[in-house]
Amino acid sequence: MEKVIIVTGGSRGIGAATASLAAQQGYAVCVNYRHNQAAAQQVVKSIEQLGGYAIAIAADITSEADIIQLFQTVDEQLGTVTALVNNAGILEQQMRVEQMDAARLHRVFTTNVMGSFLCAREAIKRMSTQHGGRGGAIVNVSSVASRLGSPGEYVDYAASKGAIDAMTVGLAKEVAAEGIRVNAVCPGFIYTDIHASGGEPNRVERVKAFVPMQRGGQAKEVAQAILWLLSDEASYTTGGFISVTGGR
Ligand code: NAP
Repeated sequence: MEKVIIVTGGSRGIGAATASLAAQQGYAVCVNYRHNQAAAQQVVKSIEQLGGYAIAIAADITSEADIIQLFQTVDEQLGTVTALVNNAGILEQQMRVEQMDAARLHRVFTTNVMGSFLCAREAIKRMSTQHGGRGGAIVNVSSVASRLGSPGEYVDYAASKGAIDAMTVGLAKEVAAEGIRVNAVCPGFIYTDIHASGGEPNRVERVKAFVPMQRGGQAKEVAQAILWLLSDEASYTTGGFISVTGGR
């Protein structure tokens, strides 16, 4: 197929909205997920009902073997990937740094940073003109947290997104002459399930008062920025960042 997208963590939240919008724009979509097969299947079903094409593939992006298998399955079932959205990400219970243990730090950095690196690696092997590819685009889902630091909540998460920002800048330059653009979106406070993982499901309601637009964002509003960065309309944009924060 001509346009093939992999959305990591495509089963819920921002990833699900991105998968749906991508299908509407003519991509064949791989909805990656970790555990929640029912949610992934629901995204695939809603894409199919609108006449789109999607498959759901379970792969834990903290596992290199799973990531290699994910990309191989896409090769076989959809064709060569042309767009990657490094969206899967986690945060954990709100706490101060002196309360964090090594296991938690390992989970957060392995998922948010290493997972994004390894998915980018597999995409580049297929997209780069140096490897005989036809080019492509990668969008990393960072966060406003890399700028704000998330004190008292999850400085580890914020730092992992800082790593994603640096990766976006460096990788964009590294592959710019090989037909690959690499950009990032930096969402602010978006209504998804992720805040429950931090122990505060209604966090957006609490913090929206600090947003100049005085409201939280919807996953679709992030997806729209992601799809623009992937599109030919962004053909001269690489190493760029779009804040989707209501002005925060
Ligand atoms: P979410 O609603 O919690 O959804 C997370 C998704 O990631 C799920 O599809 C989940 O799959 C998947 N996932 C988690 N760990 C994974 C792993 N190891 N391997 C594969 N998939 C995995 O999260 P969200 O709010 O949409 O967040 C998406 C991205 O946006 C994250 O990178 C997050 O840091 C970023 N972000 C979110 C906000 C916000 O306010 N929501 C703000 C800034 C940035 P399962 O369902 O199978 O577990």
